[in-house]
Amino acid sequence: MNRQDLADLIFPGLTKTIADYEAMYPERNLGENARVTRFAPSPTGFMHIGHMLGCVIDYVLAKKSDGVFYLRNEDTDTSRTVEGAVEYIRHVLEHYHMEPEEYEYRDLEKTKGNYAPYIQSERKEIYQTFIKHLIIEGKAYPCFLTQEEMDSIREGQARDKRRIGIYGRYAKYRDLPVEEAIERIKNGESYTIRLKSSGDFNRKFKFNDLANGEMELPENDIDIPIMKSKDGLPTYHFAHLVDDHLMHTTHVVRGQEWISSIPVHYELFKTFGFKMPKYIHIPLILKKDGDTIRKISKRLDPEARMTYYEEKGYPYLAVIEAIMTIANSNYEAWREGHPDAHFTEFEFSPKKMSSSGALFDLDKLDNISKNYISRLTKEEVYAGVLSWSKIYDEEFSEILEKYKEYSMAIYNIEREQKKPRKDYTYYSEIKDKTWYMYEEYFDYSKVDFSAYDVEEVKTILMKYKEIYNENDSQEEWFNRIKEMCDVLGYASDRKDYNNNPENYKGSVVDVTNILRIALTSLTTTPDLYSIMQILGKEKIFARFDKMIAK
Ligand code: GLU
Repeated sequence: MNRQDLADLIFPGLTKTIADYEAMYPERNLGENARVTRFAPSPTGFMHIGHMLGCVIDYVLAKKSDGVFYLRNEDTDTSRTVEGAVEYIRHVLEHYHMEPEEYEYRDLEKTKGNYAPYIQSERKEIYQTFIKHLIIEGKAYPCFLTQEEMDSIREGQARDKRRIGIYGRYAKYRDLPVEEAIERIKNGESYTIRLKSSGDFNRKFKFNDLANGEMELPENDIDIPIMKSKDGLPTYHFAHLVDDHLMHTTHVVRGQEWISSIPVHYELFKTFGFKMPKYIHIPLILKKDGDTIRKISKRLDPEARMTYYEEKGYPYLAVIEAIMTIANSNYEAWREGHPDAHFTEFEFSPKKMSSSGALFDLDKLDNISKNYISRLTKEEVYAGVLSWSKIYDEEFSEILEKYKEYSMAIYNIEREQKKPRKDYTYYSEIKDKTWYMYEEYFDYSKVDFSAYDVEEVKTILMKYKEIYNENDSQEEWFNRIKEMCDVLGYASDRKDYNNNPENYKGSVVDVTNILRIALTSLTTTPDLYSIMQILGKEKIFARFDKMIAK
């Protein structure tokens, strides 16, 4: 009996060979420098900002080079799969307009792309074909170590301060005669498949990471598990090798936590004689916490989760901008030179990525977002706040739909000008900054004139009703207020008042303030003339009348 018999016993039903799969999934027909990237999250939790950083880089690399950005669902760790995680990933990609060119959405029964399936748990036969090949070649073997044995090996290694893992003398089954392995399997013993490593831990190899440069790493000598006993699915290490090979990935963008796995991946690719993709290991995302800088944490920091940005209502492009600024140190300078370019026109350079960590600063995001919203048209702001409120504030969305033109007019106050107002940082704060414009939200009990003489307020409001003309230009409008000041004993010029306060009841500033408070209940607002133009005479007078009656 030989290794072929062993391999046939373990994988009896496989009909294809590696060559068959390579023929099924041929080279992609792309330009010479086209980059093929994949976003390959495991659905073991909800997408966080670290995933997003990798995803944006994947996307930019592919788009900029007319390559392909595809989505792969790395769900081989079935015990850790979280319900809804896959759907949420799709949602985020949609929300950020980074739709993959190739994908497989099982729940929607939708698949696109010539390299399907894109869900690892559906690729079992493919992986097993590759594993079978290794067994026949004597480069992988069934291992019968029980969980208890492995636990005790690990404890012993920890106690003796040795490297952890199944290697050297710990790899008890690597040289088990084929006959014995066959017999154990026939007897129903449980086993995993391990790589029979040919590496030497004392030897080093050079590895070039596009972000971190050349690294010297020790060879792998651990017989890592490549197929689990429970479900016959491969481990991540093995699955990614097969997939990136068959799907012709050119660039792998992934977290720095994978650097320690490079020796394993290097050996696996070498064992098959496959070309390794290029790797870009991206830094951890850090945040400022008081005086310290620490790793962003899903547990401690709400902004670590992608849900945060949608709940707040940041425009998606503002979030991407903020991410791009931490992805590449020269992005901001590029943006200054290309204010209107799409972010995918930027040539991402892995070398210009911080290796020590990427500091993600919410103040910076706020700043980017504020500027971004200030440059939108009123229609765009309206569309943004409407789609946000449809999910997070239904009542407000109904108001917005009822008063569409009116709301857009509000957003247009001091907008179409060289230096537009920067009132809004995210969509969730727009209601808090515009509620007083809507009768439904205006609260007369909030109007507070305690800083003024009530009779004076009444006189001013009544007088103003007489003179107000809604067809006035801004200049006419202001002149009319000034004229009223003269009549009522207020200084129409602030300077006059400041020089001789005893001669006046107050100044034009007091008068406009009283009007402002009566109309908005606030002491500071955007341009009052614009607010009045939008409110319209009827509403203005109605509000005045209520104040006068009060
Ligand atoms: N499935 C892996 C993870 O979610 C992806 C690593 C990779 O992109 O290769 O961490």
